[in-house]
Amino acid sequence: SSVSKDSPLTAYCKKRASEMSNRRVAIVGAGAAGLCAARHIMAHSKHFASPVVFEQTETVGGTWFYEDSEETQDSRRHVHSSMYRNLRTNLPKEVMMFPDFPFDAHLPSFLPHQDVQKYLERYCEHFAITPHIKFNTAVEEARPIAMEMDREKTMAWEVTTRDQHGTQNTETFDSVFICTGHYSDPHIPPIPGLQYFKGKVMHSHAYRRPEPFAGQSVIVFGAGASGLDISIELAKAMAQVMLSHGKPALTFSLPPGIQQAPPLSRVIEDGRVQFKDGSLVEAEVLMFCTGYNFSFPFLHPEQLHLDIRDHLVAPLYRFILPPAYPSLFFFGICKTICPFPHFHCQVQFALAVLDGTVKLPSREEMEREVQNMVDRKTAMGVLERHLLRMESEQWRYYQCLADSGGFSPLPPVIQSLYEEVARQRQKHPQKYRNANYRLVTDTQWESIEKTH
Ligand code: FAD
Repeated sequence: SSVSKDSPLTAYCKKRASEMSNRRVAIVGAGAAGLCAARHIMAHSKHFASPVVFEQTETVGGTWFYEDSEETQDSRRHVHSSMYRNLRTNLPKEVMMFPDFPFDAHLPSFLPHQDVQKYLERYCEHFAITPHIKFNTAVEEARPIAMEMDREKTMAWEVTTRDQHGTQNTETFDSVFICTGHYSDPHIPPIPGLQYFKGKVMHSHAYRRPEPFAGQSVIVFGAGASGLDISIELAKAMAQVMLSHGKPALTFSLPPGIQQAPPLSRVIEDGRVQFKDGSLVEAEVLMFCTGYNFSFPFLHPEQLHLDIRDHLVAPLYRFILPPAYPSLFFFGICKTICPFPHFHCQVQFALAVLDGTVKLPSREEMEREVQNMVDRKTAMGVLERHLLRMESEQWRYYQCLADSGGFSPLPPVIQSLYEEVARQRQKHPQKYRNANYRLVTDTQWESIEKTH
């Protein structure tokens, strides 16, 4: 067979010259965000060539692909997913779903993780995405290159991948969509003296099931969604849990095995843990439920004029694109959101940028807009690590993306049900998942009897 001598760039220019209108997009990751991106690109075949999705594992689903093997700190293989065996969703399926693809009607509102994985597999099948995914292919580098085509200066992206046989390959694309998630690289805050702790130190990323902790004393550090859920299931499995956190004391009822404690301060030389109020305790396990770091090892942040820290990626215009390189797109870096509807809006906005529907402001204006947002939030006392939290701001954000991108906004019922569930979760963290809901109209939901 003849081997092409063309460099990736020359081959790319020749190909592009023959199919001028169809932009080529590389999607990194086949989790919910990557699948959503592929689905919408395929629906816009007038402007886009078929997407190429690179997925480092052998399956779709990302976070939702549960792996029972516990990843220990010394294990060599990195497990992407942070799912634990008993996890049930903390959003009802009516809010969680992609607005154009409902979950099975017979399922309850709050689902075990396996049902979400099946849903994503069904989504993939329904929109015929699988043939466009290159499995077991990790992106090792994505870098911008300047090029000239039809005497016009333009830019493209060289994407270098490695497959499971170790074979490297470089392809050129017009645009890169980053859909690699951000719940995979555990964040452990610096705790003085941690090396003196005599028991097991772990992060919720490696937590799978409660049974091994029965009868043990466990300090869970962090009372976010995972910290709270894991504490409750550990206590039910007869562990003695100290839930250490910096929030105001939790007032809702917790199982008897959970005691609240102030944040960790340090570990002293005899191995006891000291809290911020000076009190000292002994424990067998120290579990960090302290979130995750952003990690994009395949990018060169300085070249992209991006500041990527543990909890921040900036500047990103509309939380999506770096003003200096507006053909690179990040999806789902915001926190406290409805992830699937969020991807649905961000992806359509990105495609509207690429097909010219959205006219981007100048680089300086985009940078200024981001800086204004940072200044405004900082003046309100928001810590750097919370700058990407959206919460109640997300609704206006989705509306704004839809208005400028010219696509249908999310139905208002998603917001009202999301807010109702947040209230219930706050009041009844152990029971809110027993409810079932039904969307009646675009603005109305109702609570229905438990179906099973
Ligand atoms: P991921 O699902 O993480 O997918 C990223 C994909 O990119 C993976 O398949 C990974 O293998 C691949 N990848 C990474 N790097 C590379 C590379 N270099 N090359 C090629 N491929 C790569 N959301 C909800 O809506 N409801 C919930 O109840 C809920 N509960 C959650 C509970 C836990 C414990 C966690 C961790 C998250 C939860 N989430 C929940 C949020 C969840 O992360 C999102 O729903 C969503 O799955 C994120 O999708 P993603 O595509 O952005 O990332």
